[in-house]
Amino acid sequence: MEFRDLKKQYEVLKKDIDSAMIDVAASGKYINGPWVKELEAQLADYVGVKHCISCANGTDALSIAMMAWGIREGDAVFVPDFTFFSSGEIVSLAGATPIFVDVDMDTFNISTESLEKEIVQVKEEGLLTPKAVVAVDLFGLPADFASLRAIADKYDIKILEDGAQGFGGEIEGRKACSFGDISTTSFFPAKPLGCYGDGGAVFTDDDEIAALADSIRVHGKGSMKYDNVRIGLNSRLDTLQAAILQVKLKAFSDYELDDVNKVADKYNEYLREALGDRVVLPFIPEGFLSSWAQYTIQLKDRAERDAVQAALKEKGIPSMIYYPKPMHKQEAFGIEGEYKFDCSNTEKLCDRVLSLPMHPHMSDEEVKEVAEALAEILL
Ligand SMILES: *Cc1c(COP(=O)(O)O)cnc(C)c1O
Repeated sequence: MEFRDLKKQYEVLKKDIDSAMIDVAASGKYINGPWVKELEAQLADYVGVKHCISCANGTDALSIAMMAWGIREGDAVFVPDFTFFSSGEIVSLAGATPIFVDVDMDTFNISTESLEKEIVQVKEEGLLTPKAVVAVDLFGLPADFASLRAIADKYDIKILEDGAQGFGGEIEGRKACSFGDISTTSFFPAKPLGCYGDGGAVFTDDDEIAALADSIRVHGKGSMKYDNVRIGLNSRLDTLQAAILQVKLKAFSDYELDDVNKVADKYNEYLREALGDRVVLPFIPEGFLSSWAQYTIQLKDRAERDAVQAALKEKGIPSMIYYPKPMHKQEAFGIEGEYKFDCSNTEKLCDRVLSLPMHPHMSDEEVKEVAEALAEILL
């Protein structure tokens, strides 16, 4: 069994992907070919925002947001403690200070109560200026943007939606990657919408930010490429990846997002049947749709989780631990041991979570096999 079966997906799309790749090879337009602009228009249309600016990867997309807002030393940016490293890395890279915020146990997403507490404390201390919150759509589920917007307005900070795992998700019919003042995504192969290498995108409704992001991704270009008006990056999306993504976006919106939700429903059904309340299943709030970057269950504690993972492996079932370590304990940030905010939910989740095989091409039989294996191990 595959954890995320990208080869199966290629088999299904082979004809269209092969011809897209050959068309790019034959065109000679390997950088900024017409596929890039077409894809950006398709992505903006899908997400429902005015501008999509593609770039080299999801981490650069976040960095472009930091640069467009001029975030720098002395600024505080609030980041969930339970996420992939990039979400905080880009804050430190910009010279600002990431402040890690605890998450909710049921959605895995940033806790709006903890966020407000930490903003208030940072303001009271007066050493840093709160500028933005990185709201991550973890495992495919959009963060609680209604509450986040209220807090952002109250304290005059920006929302950066890190939709690297969230592409395709929805709240009340509105698409992920449209909720931030700037939103970003990643096209790393295993993300909900992946290419065949690295890729990413920035989304915004703001014309000025869009123009800035477009400049930053090409060495801070001015009126043309050899007129440089600011320090930027070399962060374009390759034409080849854009052509592949056009094929994949069509499959994603035609059936993959539906199919992956059907797989999630099957998981919920079979796991309930086989295990009752023995494990905690993922929670999707009313009105929300997940794009299921991961299907993540919670076990009792680290010992049980690690034992279950090892036993699944024996049975030929791959699983992953996203994430084994809270952000505030990552050595890179240099705050380990002295962190003053309460991130106890994140600490519990790092001990308990286990992500099961999940992708749109997973069969009912495979889902059943995982559920039965878990029942054998746990009951
Ligand atoms: C994958 C990921 C990123 C980074 O994307 P890359 O394309 O790998 O640079 C950022 N944030 C989150 C939450 C991610 O999962």
